[in-house]
Amino acid sequence: MKFRSTRDPESSADFCTALERGIAPDGGLYVPVSLPRHSIDDFDGCDTLATVAECLLRPFVEGTALAPELADICSESFSFPIPLLRLQDGPEQLSVLELFHGPTAAFKDVGARFLAASLERMNADRERPLTILVATSGDTGGAVAAAFHGRPNVRTVILYPLGLVSPRQEKQLTCWGGNVTTLAVKGSFDDCQRLVKQAFADPGLREAHRLSSANSISIGRLLPQTVYYAFASLSLWRSEARRPGFIIPTGNLGNAQACVWARSMGLPIADVILATNANRPIPDFLESGEWRPRDSLATLASAMDVGNPSNMERLRWQFNDDIEALRAAVGAISVDDAQIREQIAAEFQRNGRVWCPHTATAMWVYRHFSEKRRAEKHWVVAATAHPAKFEEIVEPLIGRSVEIPEQLAALLELPVKATRITPELDQLTKVLG
Ligand SMILES: *Cc1c(COP(=O)(O)O)cnc(C)c1O
Repeated sequence: MKFRSTRDPESSADFCTALERGIAPDGGLYVPVSLPRHSIDDFDGCDTLATVAECLLRPFVEGTALAPELADICSESFSFPIPLLRLQDGPEQLSVLELFHGPTAAFKDVGARFLAASLERMNADRERPLTILVATSGDTGGAVAAAFHGRPNVRTVILYPLGLVSPRQEKQLTCWGGNVTTLAVKGSFDDCQRLVKQAFADPGLREAHRLSSANSISIGRLLPQTVYYAFASLSLWRSEARRPGFIIPTGNLGNAQACVWARSMGLPIADVILATNANRPIPDFLESGEWRPRDSLATLASAMDVGNPSNMERLRWQFNDDIEALRAAVGAISVDDAQIREQIAAEFQRNGRVWCPHTATAMWVYRHFSEKRRAEKHWVVAATAHPAKFEEIVEPLIGRSVEIPEQLAALLELPVKATRITPELDQLTKVLG
């Protein structure tokens, strides 16, 4: 399978090149030239995440050095459970896809681990290490650091907006050391993202440090995210012969783009609904047909505080920038902080379940569908992080403490290491050495 830049039909790269470059040389994003089409029977006998992953991702790596490694990469990256929890039965069926059982308790562990497992193997015989440069609005950096920490031949530099991530998120960004350097940037997530883009746009820097990305723009993170949508939709299809609809908390649009791809590859998926926080470029775009990126607003669902979602370029490319086709492909609803709070409390009262602020946006969307729409199909809410990562928001709303998952508790014990910088390229250059 070949990949190309969203901006240049003549460009071409294989999976490994796209992975190593992160972003295409023309500033566009890598997309598969075409998506493989699977029938549901192709997955007969695939009843674990790792086996579904291997079947689904095989066409993308065919013909590259990673092809013989794919089975190992899949079993290494899909080694924690991603349970589909049935919340409600009867006329209105609701399940939650719990994506937060990995090392840093958020869905980004999946893509980060796949990418790290792939890059480590691709760089096994290189002399200079690859430098992974990552801007994070919260969860990306922790997941990437956890995935790359201690791996040979890869160095990781993480930029996060100082004061704009939760205290526990900050711990997970700054506890590493070794081959992981963490930078606390005095600015917003968009500033961090801009700095990373500037570094990539500088051919000297790029070459000297073998810069590579692990943001959700990396195809190596996006593609493995298709796997849990495939797995969940197959398991519902096998038990109910119905195509579920997914409601996905959305910021930079990587998670939801993966779901759209899974559907385009033939998986039994009906609606894909994007739940955004008060940052509304996507819902506004679908409504008006005009793409107007803007500065990001700080909200309770901080990992979704994105004013200019990068992956929009992929989604628009996939549907030829045809607004009617885009409207048919996805829906989007914005949920504000008051509604997030209200929903966290309401869900706890309803059934004793506690969800993080991001997951709560999707819950709010589901609960505010019409009764008819809720009953139409089996809906699946993607739960993107464990609530214990956002305890300072969640605990006052439910009036009790949230138990910390074991893997997270271990990270929180480690000491903090971070360097403060202002959002200027020369500061970043200095750190790169
Ligand atoms: C990153 C993140 C999101 C948003 O995912 P995108 O792929 O950027 O749309 C939602 N929830 C949590 C907990 C996240 O960390």
